[in-house]
Amino acid sequence: MVRLHVVPSEQPRLTGSVRRADVPDAQWFDWRWQLGHMLQNAADLARVIELAPAEREGLAASAKLFRVGITPYYASLMDPAHASCPIRMQAIPNATEADIRDEELRDPLGEDSHNPAPSVVHKYPDRVLFLVVDRCGIYCRHCNRRRLVGGDEPPTTADLEAGLAYIAKTTRIRDVLLSGGDPLLLSTRRLGYLLGRLRAIPHIETIRIGTRLPVVCPMRIDAELCAMLKQHHPLFINTHFNHVVELTPDARAACERLVDAGIPVGNQTVLLRGINSSVRSLRALMRGLLKSRVRPYYLFQGDTVIGTDHLRTSVEDAMRLYQGLRGWMNGMAVPSLVLDAPGGHGKVPIFPNYIESLGEHEVVVRTYRGERITYPQPRVRDPSVAYDDIYFAEQPADDDREGAAEADLP
Ligand code: SF4
Repeated sequence: MVRLHVVPSEQPRLTGSVRRADVPDAQWFDWRWQLGHMLQNAADLARVIELAPAEREGLAASAKLFRVGITPYYASLMDPAHASCPIRMQAIPNATEADIRDEELRDPLGEDSHNPAPSVVHKYPDRVLFLVVDRCGIYCRHCNRRRLVGGDEPPTTADLEAGLAYIAKTTRIRDVLLSGGDPLLLSTRRLGYLLGRLRAIPHIETIRIGTRLPVVCPMRIDAELCAMLKQHHPLFINTHFNHVVELTPDARAACERLVDAGIPVGNQTVLLRGINSSVRSLRALMRGLLKSRVRPYYLFQGDTVIGTDHLRTSVEDAMRLYQGLRGWMNGMAVPSLVLDAPGGHGKVPIFPNYIESLGEHEVVVRTYRGERITYPQPRVRDPSVAYDDIYFAEQPADDDREGAAEADLP
């Protein structure tokens, strides 16, 4: 699925100010106003910050590759004095985005080849991605789904019905992850309808939603949305904070509203060179998330998506940074460090190796402080669980077939 995006005009698209100081609260805290006033080009951005020459060059060079879109709220977090600001670097393209390397991929996660029904990606045995919308509240410069998002070809009602039909007939799917684009951009009513349809499928145990709106448009997390979401438990939300500066009082309050609705909120951070690629920055982010009642979930090594080479760290740096987290903070603040294997082969943990030697009688481990400690192995080694045969006697064995083959099964 290759989609072309409209190249934003260099003319200002917006009328009126989008600066926080000029916008009445009634508009500023209206999520529809925020999404209707997204900054999309250099002329729009020049209304809120003075663009650096490299940013102007980037906006001109990359417009044909991946659209720009930033809510006034997220733009209000930009440091007007420094182009190295993590908000600016995530939202405003760099000229090197147009410098595409041979090994970079349009579809680094191989989603288009695991696509048994419209809007469904089925890569892992018991869970699917359900891509319900193609718009976002920001177009992140590191996005690995840039080929799909942008708002030009949203999934049709027929696409969504076909996706629901696939999920309903494929009984080994236990978990559905709504993504896109950003599912919280659907109207509350439309999203509630889709969640209700999924909840009516007996084999669906859990539903997850991936969203960046708590970060870029926290006003979307309103009472009406939370009241609707809480009708569909067990429901989980994973959001996407990459820097502690994004954890504003408004963003934190949005996360707390979700948690207060009984929804566990996790966070997926992408490791971004020059944006959050320091131990200090990552520690502050992870601690800030926990204080906001959000559980750090994944720390992603950057995907090999086109135009993002300049934002990726080396794997050695990723592991070094991880060692600055593990052991130095509450374990709940430490996400799993993973790499998505190019081509759709799934997530691979890339933790540093803390085992120095593995023997029959003892294991030597290296602690977070670098000490070598011996752990004695037990004398009895058989790990089988006798009660499994009793407790699970009437249940079929887990099905671990690959997902995409499901459509071809009799
Ligand atoms: S919000 Fe997610 S899907 Fe949308 S542009 Fe950012 S990373 Fe991509």
